[in-house]
Amino acid sequence: MLKTADVVIIGGGAIGTSLLYHLTAKGLRNVVLLEKGLLCAGSTGDSAAIVRQHYSNEVGIHLVRKSVEIFQNFPDMFDGAEVFHNVGWYFLVPPEAADIFNNNMARLKRLGVRTWEVSVADAAEALPGLNMEGIGCVAFEPDSGYANPHGMASAFAAKAKSNGAQIYLQTPARDIKLNNGRVSAVVTDQGEISTPVVVNAAGPWAKSVGRWVGLDLPLEITRESEVVARIPADLPPMRHAVSNMVDRTYWRPEQRGMLLVGVGHPKENELTDPDHYSRDVSRDFVEDITRRLTHRLPAMGQALFVKGWSGLYTVTPDWNMILDKSPDVEGLYLAVGGSGHSFKISPAIGLCMAELIADGAAGTVDITPLQGARFTEETHLSSTYGGNRA
Ligand SMILES: Cc1cc2nc3c(=O)[nH]c(=O)nc-3n(C[C@H](O)[C@H](O)[C@H](O)COP(=O)(O)OP(=O)(O)OC[C@H]3O[C@@H](n4cnc5c(N)ncnc54)[C@H](O)[C@@H]3O)c2cc1C
Repeated sequence: MLKTADVVIIGGGAIGTSLLYHLTAKGLRNVVLLEKGLLCAGSTGDSAAIVRQHYSNEVGIHLVRKSVEIFQNFPDMFDGAEVFHNVGWYFLVPPEAADIFNNNMARLKRLGVRTWEVSVADAAEALPGLNMEGIGCVAFEPDSGYANPHGMASAFAAKAKSNGAQIYLQTPARDIKLNNGRVSAVVTDQGEISTPVVVNAAGPWAKSVGRWVGLDLPLEITRESEVVARIPADLPPMRHAVSNMVDRTYWRPEQRGMLLVGVGHPKENELTDPDHYSRDVSRDFVEDITRRLTHRLPAMGQALFVKGWSGLYTVTPDWNMILDKSPDVEGLYLAVGGSGHSFKISPAIGLCMAELIADGAAGTVDITPLQGARFTEETHLSSTYGGNRA
């Protein structure tokens, strides 16, 4: 194991691997990523990985636009790796949310997102078997879809390695050492790596990592379930990704004629401990999601549910990430609090954090609205729909 590094990243999920690659793309070579399991062992591996651009704050819109650009150029940038399924995304909204929907659509268009409203009847044509009842407005994004989280993280990691980075799997960071209030080393079971810069990208474990240096990061961990169902043979294929605010579900195609389905916000947060939680889905969850899904897609009443799992969201008070240089511990950077929607923005987050570390500020997108101090200064970001709809 290396004895010294310019940067040590703790965490090999979407954020850590994206950052590792982007640091090497900026010319840094002596950079290390520590992952306590395998790549995508945390939230990233459990993610639905839906990529939509309908954000309601400007920083989110800029981050997702840049990320979509990276997703679209992925095969050229990463030796042919095909990780993005550009199947288009539909957003079903109830009539009572029409005003905020219209405001958001105007902002999205002003900031360059290709999106437009379609009629409910047109949406029903594109989404076979859709029950149109109760849908007020529908947005469509032709450039959105979903991605393969493992494919993305492993492509970032492989390119970073070929650029000279070191990745240590099954190597938990155990502690961060400080010298006169600044970062000096990361401790592992294989020894210490001296470094002036540490990045906390530990997902649901980021709060524990923060505690090592006396930080109480404002993060809560919630348990989130998803299921995969086989689409009945007599139903045409489901080609698009969908967020359905009317019944609070989302779905997108999964391989081999399957549909991946989850429950959206608002809902009760199930707070949990990332080291002790059930990975299963409960019977109540399956019953609830079946009811919601078959109301909107009645033919799915015949669907067979084939698997399900529960993963973790790491939630900040305003459901947006903290991307920052720690004001309290010199040399420590924070890329924490994915809040259930940060897979899709991870390509741009890695780029912006690399700029913050290497250049002192992020030039591609101004990420200062995501500084950690926003909570103490009461400059929370607003998110018009609430929860992880950001
Ligand atoms: C069920 C579910 C559905 C989701 N759906 C979507 C979606 O449709 N679209 C979207 O954009 N987002 C979605 N998200 C959110 C998204 O997946 C996360 O925001 C994103 O993956 C967070 O990435 P991360 O790198 O911050 O965290 P993680 O992927 O959790 O990575 C952190 C890594 O750090 C490692 N680690 C922790 N502690 C240590 C240590 N001490 N030493 C070494 N390694 C350590 C962990 O093992 C882990 O691999 C979903 C999340 C879940 C759970």
